[in-house]
Amino acid sequence: MSNIPELFASMVFDNATMKERLPRETYKSLMKTISDGKHLDLAVANVVANAMKNWAIEKGATHFTHWFQPMTGVTAEKHDSFISPTADGGIIMEFSGKELVKGETDASSFPSGGLRATFEARGYTAWDPTSYAFIKDGTLCIPTAYCSFGGEALDKKTPLLRSMEAINKQTLRVLRLFGNEDVTSVKTTVGPEQEYFLIDEALFNKRKDLIYTGRTLFGSMPPKGQEMDDHYYGTIIPKVVAYMKELDEELWKLGIFAKTKHNEVAPAQHELAPIFTTTNIATDHNQLTMEIMKKVAHKHGLACLLHEKPFRGVNGSGKHNNWSISTNTGVNLLEPGETPHQNAQFLLFLCAVIKAVNEYQDLLRVGVATASNDHRLGANEAPPAVISIFLGTELTDILTAIENDSAYDRKEKEALKIGVHVLPKFPKDTTDRNRTSPFAFTGNKFEFRMLGSQSSIAGTNIALNTAVAEELRQFADILENADDFGNALHDLIKKTISENKNIIFNGNGYDDAWIEEATKVRGLHNYRATPDALPHFVDENNIKLYKTHKVFSEAEMYARHEIHFENYNKLIRIEALTMIDMASKDILPAVCGYVKELSDTVISKKNACPSVSCLYEEKTIEKLSSLCNEIYEKLGELREIVSESERIYDSQKLSRFCCDNIIPAMDNLRAPVDEAEEITCEKNWPYPSYGDLLFSVK
Ligand code: ADP
Ligand code: MG
Repeated sequence: MSNIPELFASMVFDNATMKERLPRETYKSLMKTISDGKHLDLAVANVVANAMKNWAIEKGATHFTHWFQPMTGVTAEKHDSFISPTADGGIIMEFSGKELVKGETDASSFPSGGLRATFEARGYTAWDPTSYAFIKDGTLCIPTAYCSFGGEALDKKTPLLRSMEAINKQTLRVLRLFGNEDVTSVKTTVGPEQEYFLIDEALFNKRKDLIYTGRTLFGSMPPKGQEMDDHYYGTIIPKVVAYMKELDEELWKLGIFAKTKHNEVAPAQHELAPIFTTTNIATDHNQLTMEIMKKVAHKHGLACLLHEKPFRGVNGSGKHNNWSISTNTGVNLLEPGETPHQNAQFLLFLCAVIKAVNEYQDLLRVGVATASNDHRLGANEAPPAVISIFLGTELTDILTAIENDSAYDRKEKEALKIGVHVLPKFPKDTTDRNRTSPFAFTGNKFEFRMLGSQSSIAGTNIALNTAVAEELRQFADILENADDFGNALHDLIKKTISENKNIIFNGNGYDDAWIEEATKVRGLHNYRATPDALPHFVDENNIKLYKTHKVFSEAEMYARHEIHFENYNKLIRIEALTMIDMASKDILPAVCGYVKELSDTVISKKNACPSVSCLYEEKTIEKLSSLCNEIYEKLGELREIVSESERIYDSQKLSRFCCDNIIPAMDNLRAPVDEAEEITCEKNWPYPSYGDLLFSVK
């Protein structure tokens, strides 16, 4: 298809389509429901459902589904057809308002963390009308929230919507204090940059580790990796160009604003960045993007790897969560203004984010803690596990001047006074250069860089929205009661800077000296692995935060807490079992086979010429035999440890055990295997090598 404006959102029942297809009154009440977040009237829902069905059928759809995001990390759908039998034995295509707004699902197999008692296996899904319905593979998909019958959230969307409501409420309070009466709603916006790898699908299918776990569990480095830096922003090869073109088109059809694409640092690694949009929609879109990335890859004979660390020794993949707050009048509240008044407002929102990140470091860390992201955080291509904020020197100087009641530069005589002075301009591009910071101000938004590439962005934004909402609540409480707004504002900003400046760091986040300073001098948290971070989710202040803003009940938090641990433990065990399977069934037999070939060679050589020396064969036989013994031994140890883990029933204890015992045992097994790979004849090795995989797309 060539006509892009026509293509764009052609598979979305979006605002334009609704306006065109719904009776005026229905459209108006639907819009009102959307903007006020109220329940949809059933009569209205019936009309909407009917229009939606007709539109979908015209586009070739035959089924509909409530599309939701359970705690498994992927999306779920259950397809029902529009077909309804008629009394005379025929069929009609039907879809009611009830079916649109609410679905029931037997969801006993989705993780609930114990929230849904087994006798109540049903959950229900409810339409999120702010996220448009769309057609995917002949099915009308209705984005929904997913709850238990008791109303507890069982998904990622419900708390995300609640957190958006929380920040909306508190931001409006603050805006009113600045005399702003025309803004009626505020939403956070996100543009998630998505990294991924593309490899040849036939090779992918030959590796059990990629199939079962998404990453390679064995593999020695090829002679060439990413050291030449020749892939980054390099020319994109035609096969990948074709892939990206189709991917863009598929995403555009769904109204996803895929915009930039380029090669990343590692060979075979790429990135896709969409134009930012409202957070809940960005979350839906990112889930769809990941799904479609894989699907389109398959059509091109490629496999798309979304894992955070598919290859050891090669850069991993992350997802950069670009985040800001916007009003319904189109103002970005993190955009520095032109006037002293606008600047004052900007600085207050900036301070809210700084304080939120400082006080809720642990929640942000928990939001990105997964078994797969542990390979990346703290490794040299990704931010460290310590959270700090990069502001750039210009902005930091301004904050320092406010804190010290001094002028921000020597030419000025007067101390910088909020609400009185215009801020100096700081060039945007210099604020974006620090790539080592986990949380960077990039001119008019913050970029959080710790998210793993395959994670949903929901968790991170739930934490961010709610933490910032809390700081704005505190600010509004103080300022609403102040006698002199200007002075109170100045004091508040000054105090916030002074109390939270320890989180600001403009230097190199990869530096060991920084980790030392961060933890020892500044007292920042350094939760290295997932089991170190997860327990803090239910710390008292975090429970208080989420309860205050009605984002999670305590029961919902404990349920999620349990699911986080379960997910971690399951993944590590699957990886361990996969390694055991590969080493015992494929690798050891293959190495033995090669040893036999070498031995046969020695025998035939010596038969032909008894005095001949067989140095290569004999030394290799010796080395490989000793490696085989080591592999066998480490395999036994890993098996032993995995069985031991089966006797641990407390999921938090089990996660510690996985981290401290299973992972080291996996590493111990990997070492001799990788060494054996280096000296085994390539045709005997049972799997495609790193070299094959990384340079497979030509
Ligand atoms: P880069 O980080 O490569 O310099 P950009 O600054 O253009 O690139 O943007 C990176 C991402 O940030 C894009 O996905 C973009 O849509 C998103 N972004 C830009 N402005 C905002 C905003 N106000 N809120 C959320 N995301 C934004
Ligand atoms: Mg960026």
